[in-house]
Amino acid sequence: MVSIQDSWFTATQIDEGTFAISEYGHWEKVHSYLLIGKEKAALIDTGLGIDNIKRITDQLTDLPIIVLTTHVHWDHIGSHGEFNEIFVHAEEEDWLLTGIKKLSIEQIRKDVARDITIPVPSTFNPDTYTPFTGKPTGVLHDGDELNIGDRNLLIFHTPGHSPGHISILDDSRGYLFTGDLLYDETPVYAFFPTTDPVALVQSLKKMTGIQNVKKIFGGHNTIGLEPGILCEVNTAVEHLEARDLVRHGTGTHRFERFSVQF
Ligand SMILES: [Zn+2]
Ligand SMILES: [Zn+2]
Repeated sequence: MVSIQDSWFTATQIDEGTFAISEYGHWEKVHSYLLIGKEKAALIDTGLGIDNIKRITDQLTDLPIIVLTTHVHWDHIGSHGEFNEIFVHAEEEDWLLTGIKKLSIEQIRKDVARDITIPVPSTFNPDTYTPFTGKPTGVLHDGDELNIGDRNLLIFHTPGHSPGHISILDDSRGYLFTGDLLYDETPVYAFFPTTDPVALVQSLKKMTGIQNVKKIFGGHNTIGLEPGILCEVNTAVEHLEARDLVRHGTGTHRFERFSVQF
């Protein structure tokens, strides 16, 4: 097993061609994922941008890399500018071009700089930190398939946390990459203005309907959740709907491992 302990990133090998690249020094515990195919590699998100994730991907593959953006939030697009091929869902193409909607740069700078527990690189300056903007090379839609050689990646539009959020199924291995739609430990956010609780619940239902999921990889916290969490999500969604809680302002709803804040 290859594992890289870098000054900022931690690369964890999931299988022979799949890696999580994590940023444990920051309170968000963000993960990006590198999927190495026969012809290309796919990098799902590029992290916080406190440091350059390409330093790690260069050590793991020589193949051309396509970046798949789960969603255009600053904590997942940090190193987008280091890569030539960037894909984003159609509904967030404009966010990538002109900036994340309804989120002030002051708030972003506060959040990127707080609760950091390891030394940051000298290139990082929270006072001038600016999320990536740029033109994507490809626009994604629900049902799209991307082939990187021997691995087929299916795109699911899963809005709610953000309008153009996607989840990605690697059906050769049963890996489901869920970005900020589904992870454990801390609440999934659907309380700020650009979120949509009803859409989020629909997206969660969509995920629970996918067959043969073997592992779930979210954008934060635990790497590789057992598919049993989908049953828990099913129960959670039924509970929330039955009590008319799928609305902004109803607060944080905690289940066993899954929680959501509306
Ligand atoms: Zn997010
Ligand atoms: Zn996130």
